[in-house]
Amino acid sequence: MTTEKPSSAKLRKQNQPEEYDLVILGGGTGSTIAAWTFASEGQRVAVVDRKYIGGSCPNIACLPSKNVIHSAKVASYVRRSAEFGIAHDAFAINMSCVRDRKRKMVTGLNEMYLDNYKHTGAELIFGTGRFVAPKTVEVTLQDGSTRQLRGTNVIISTGTRAALGSTPGLADAQPLTHIEALELDEVPEHLLVIGGGYVGIELSQAMRRFGSRVSVIDRNERLMTREDLDVCEGLRRLLQDEGIDVLLNAQIKRVSGKSGVGVKIVIEQDGAEKTLEGSHVLVAAGRTPNTEGLGLESAGVELTDRGYLRVNERLQTTAPGVWAIGEVAGSPLFTHISVDDFRVVHANISGKHRVTTGRQVPYCLFTDPELARIGLSESEAKAQGIAYRLFKIPMEGVLRARTLSETRGFLKALIEAESDRILGFTAFGVGAGEIMSAVQVAILAGLPYTGLRDAVLAHPTLVEGLGALFSSPATVVNADAKPARVSAA
Ligand SMILES: Cc1cc2nc3c(=O)[nH]c(=O)nc-3n(C[C@H](O)[C@H](O)[C@H](O)COP(=O)(O)OP(=O)(O)OC[C@H]3O[C@@H](n4cnc5c(N)ncnc54)[C@H](O)[C@@H]3O)c2cc1C
Repeated sequence: MTTEKPSSAKLRKQNQPEEYDLVILGGGTGSTIAAWTFASEGQRVAVVDRKYIGGSCPNIACLPSKNVIHSAKVASYVRRSAEFGIAHDAFAINMSCVRDRKRKMVTGLNEMYLDNYKHTGAELIFGTGRFVAPKTVEVTLQDGSTRQLRGTNVIISTGTRAALGSTPGLADAQPLTHIEALELDEVPEHLLVIGGGYVGIELSQAMRRFGSRVSVIDRNERLMTREDLDVCEGLRRLLQDEGIDVLLNAQIKRVSGKSGVGVKIVIEQDGAEKTLEGSHVLVAAGRTPNTEGLGLESAGVELTDRGYLRVNERLQTTAPGVWAIGEVAGSPLFTHISVDDFRVVHANISGKHRVTTGRQVPYCLFTDPELARIGLSESEAKAQGIAYRLFKIPMEGVLRARTLSETRGFLKALIEAESDRILGFTAFGVGAGEIMSAVQVAILAGLPYTGLRDAVLAHPTLVEGLGALFSSPATVVNADAKPARVSAA
């Protein structure tokens, strides 16, 4: 991809592996930043990727989905426009234009990434890689020829893909995954979504707002089961209020037909079988690590029982000099974690010491309104027997939300019972991700909740709502339990 160094071509002719300081297999966000950073520091770096410049996030996952979700938000504003005093005649959704806006953004991101490759001198090689010996990767290039690269250090960062599972008929139905769903140039007439996790929920709401009928099928009794009951219930109500059918406790028995032509899904719910019919099916029911075909046995890299790369807290695999970053390493499924994995590996390769344990894992679900959380939830605090003070206000108490006519949801914070330390914060409401980040900064700075309560925050901003939250009366929960012994991460 980028200009090849003359010595590489010479070595290739001699049929010997080309030598690099760092070879990266799979170019996700963290490993891409690793490539640029190590190359800027003077190391000879090669990144091998099957097809993406920058991995999933800018091409098929976070940024494209947020781009399309924003188009859906505009559609919802147009539908609500009379409420804001703006009259309009009929409107139409043009999915080709929605897709083109997304594609344009992706092209721009790819150009920016390629510029960084050029400036840093890291080499991007398009091809499929697999280990053929310790620290040695063979790449089958797009023209069918091969190259062998040997690194003093190797990073594996091959990510995950949508899991299809073993449901009879599902693979034959050629379901959409997020990749194809974000490339649709038509609004599905009736989209059946398998899985009520973050990918399923975000795309369900977007497609519904474009005009699709949507049914979400989930085997659990709640959506987003790791969240507190009030959050799960808030999300379920949000989807239902937008006209999405939410089928919980539903076991999928079999699937027939073809996505895009017509699909039937037989589910069992409350002991009875039901058949759902739709035009398309989207599978968003978990992820499978991309580890097969990597020749890991030739490299001495072992897997966990769940099929992820076995790593320690420094992100070293079981093979000396071989590291792992991102989802394939079993790290939480977020781009910001892939970036932090880079920091861990960068420090450790550079002779310092950094670990993944104890780090903060904030996250945001990009529904409208958003859900965002940092630190402990109530269920986690209760399960750990931790005493806390609970502050909770409805979004109606955030004045900025009223100016926007976006008052759905709530803010809540868990404060250590015996001190003013912030243990956890959840926002379900407009701008939740930004509000949560403000609380995260306070946690990082070791600021007690009173610091936010007493701060002079600009009016009317959403973050100002933290003043209202922390001035509200608190409830003491688990009063007899032990004081918190968590890192508030
Ligand atoms: C629809 C969707 C929305 C998401 N939204 C968000 C969000 O809003 N915020 C957030 O933080 N996270 C989000 N995520 C998760 C996020 O995309 C990932 O956690 C993040 O991209 C990190 O991935 P990674 O670095 O582990 O691997 P990836 O970015 O997936 O990179 C792996 C790369 O390895 C390549 N590869 C695999 N095997 C080989 C091989 N044998 N040879 C060569 N190359 C290979 C692949 O082509 C790929 O480019 C979302 C995910 C999805 C699916």
